[in-house]
Amino acid sequence: MRITIKVGSNVLTRPDGTLDFTRMSSIVDQIAQLRHEGHEVLLVSSGAVACGRSELKHIQEDLDSVDQRQLFSSVGQAKLMNRYFELFREYGISVGQVLTMKENFNDSPHRSNQENCLRVMLKNGVLPIINENDTVSITELMFTDNDELSGLITQMTHSDMLILLSNIDGIYTGNPSDPDARLIPTVNPNADLTAYISPQQSSAGRGGMQSKASVACSLAASGTPVIIANGKRSDILLRLIHQPDTTPCTRFIC
Ligand code: GLU
Repeated sequence: MRITIKVGSNVLTRPDGTLDFTRMSSIVDQIAQLRHEGHEVLLVSSGAVACGRSELKHIQEDLDSVDQRQLFSSVGQAKLMNRYFELFREYGISVGQVLTMKENFNDSPHRSNQENCLRVMLKNGVLPIINENDTVSITELMFTDNDELSGLITQMTHSDMLILLSNIDGIYTGNPSDPDARLIPTVNPNADLTAYISPQQSSAGRGGMQSKASVACSLAASGTPVIIANGKRSDILLRLIHQPDTTPCTRFIC
């Protein structure tokens, strides 16, 4: 299978905002295993802004939100990629950085350049690690979040599946902290989920369950299954593929 995996900022950072190297390393181990089993993987990784913010804690200047995003992502993206590069190298896997913008998915020459870049990377066994180019994509040029970006990558590369890793097991029938709330294991793309999803956004990134569900419903409606799962659970990627029936998650079926 060709699998697009999106890892959210909340998965890669600790509660104090610093990069969680142990978690990152575990995700790399699992992706290496999936590749070893013959799967092709594209990784959409958030975490640049969160990582830069924790790196530049000493910066006292009053920065507006655009300045913060540009400054933090410029530093954080370098740190993130450096770590991925080293971790994947231990498995002999070459990784390449793809920083992109919304216009690269519109009907324009940019789109075919983007498509060609991903195609040539996959053809040559290079694992694409994709993020929005947060240093220059501002306001209307921005993706809603990396959930939207990962949906577009899934479509562009005709991936067989999208896995969205967040810090929650999936969609619940109520507030996940409520003991009566149940995890919804499967969702039909036409299901109305409004009663189950709060518009709350991620504490470390820009995404949230609402945007995950909307990306998942639209991909599943066009024939690509999507899984929302908890990237903080050990071996989650391997369990989703090998023990699909007993691994907590929400699957959007086609
Ligand atoms: N591109 C942002 C980052 O790397 C994350 C956006 C999101 O949270 O979806 O920090």
